[in-house]
Amino acid sequence: MKENFDFLMPSVNFFGSGVIAKIGDRAKMVNMSKVLIVTDKFLEKMENGPVEQTLRSLDQAGVDYVIYNGVEPNPKVRNIQEAKQVYLDNDCDGIITIGGGSAHDAGKGTGIILTNGDDITKLAGIETLENALPPLIAVNTTAGTASELTRHCVITNEETHLKFVVVSWRNVPLVSFNDPKLMLGVPPALTAATGMDTFVQAIEPYVSTNRNDITDGQCLQAIKLVEESLREAVSNGENLEARTKMVEAEMLGGMAFNNADLGYVHAMAHQLGGQYDAPHGVCCAILLPIVERFNLVACPDRFADLAVAMGENIDGLSIRAAADKAIDAMQQLNDDVGIPRSIKDLGADPKDFELMAENALKDGNAFSNPRKATKQQIVELFQQAYDAK
Ligand code: NAD
Repeated sequence: MKENFDFLMPSVNFFGSGVIAKIGDRAKMVNMSKVLIVTDKFLEKMENGPVEQTLRSLDQAGVDYVIYNGVEPNPKVRNIQEAKQVYLDNDCDGIITIGGGSAHDAGKGTGIILTNGDDITKLAGIETLENALPPLIAVNTTAGTASELTRHCVITNEETHLKFVVVSWRNVPLVSFNDPKLMLGVPPALTAATGMDTFVQAIEPYVSTNRNDITDGQCLQAIKLVEESLREAVSNGENLEARTKMVEAEMLGGMAFNNADLGYVHAMAHQLGGQYDAPHGVCCAILLPIVERFNLVACPDRFADLAVAMGENIDGLSIRAAADKAIDAMQQLNDDVGIPRSIKDLGADPKDFELMAENALKDGNAFSNPRKATKQQIVELFQQAYDAK
């Protein structure tokens, strides 16, 4: 538990059905006259989708824009280099990211190299940024990574296959938009993967060594909301109430990990994402019950709290038995929403596990994990995730 901490959030967070219509006026209010939109081709083409709705509002407010639509999942260094060039060629004075974590991180990365030097790989780590980024508004379309609120920017070096994180208060977007109506069309597998990322982002800060009383409350409420709504959002994507609860959970988990940090699930998931270009939420979900079973001995009472938040009845159980129930409930949620059990399905190869374990222990998320592991123990956790059936 940390007693002194900085609590970071964007200065304004628009939340609720239809809030996207306000983006033009807000962009004007923060003195944007020509913005770089950072998104992907799929979202750009979607009829009446998040990009079209944003552009409509910008047009109404008289704010000019240019679009960079080259964001790839697990955004690459080449994406931010390309986006930077478009920004400079068009004399832009702000950035609007539209999409999930990949678009937001690509936009943050673009801002970073515009003002902090061209080689982002040298800026990996914590509080490495000396200069402010251009103003950034994040329009979020998945629930999700919460990158629209966080100080993290996760980029993949396509040459080394290393996924690295730049963590800085300067990365926190100026304004975020979370409009659940923009998420109604997210397909079931993507809803499951991104929703499980939200779930992990509420579990890891709850057992983090950097947790505090504020983030504890956020985590428990986020877990309750995921339990109530993720299965429904996956099986009935048009249910606005379920989508709204998932966005609330996403924001709560984002606030929590932005301030209390994460753990080995994320540190290891980044290796799977970098090495195999695997979807982040699925990587996190598969690793969750395996890593938390390893962590359980470090703080069984915290895991017993998680069991209660997940709706498990722990009456009459020992703390250890209640903690075990929490891990079983995590696996059950994975199974219910269709997450595969093994990282074999992501293309993992055991010959890579040594190097991935070494890099996982250097990842910025590893330091707040409640139980310290050796490299060999991380290799074994990857192997368990590979052998799981
Ligand atoms: P994503 O941004 O990669 O998007 C995945 C796919 O979903 C894309 O093809 C996109 O076109 C599609 N999509 C997005 N919104 C949609 C919508 N409304 N309807 C239909 N399709 C839609 O996925 P993600 O899981 O949101 O982001 C993952 C990335 O975020 C990873 O690189 C991960 O490491 C990173 N991440 C960042 C943070 C942070 O705080 N910066 C935290 C966690 C994860």
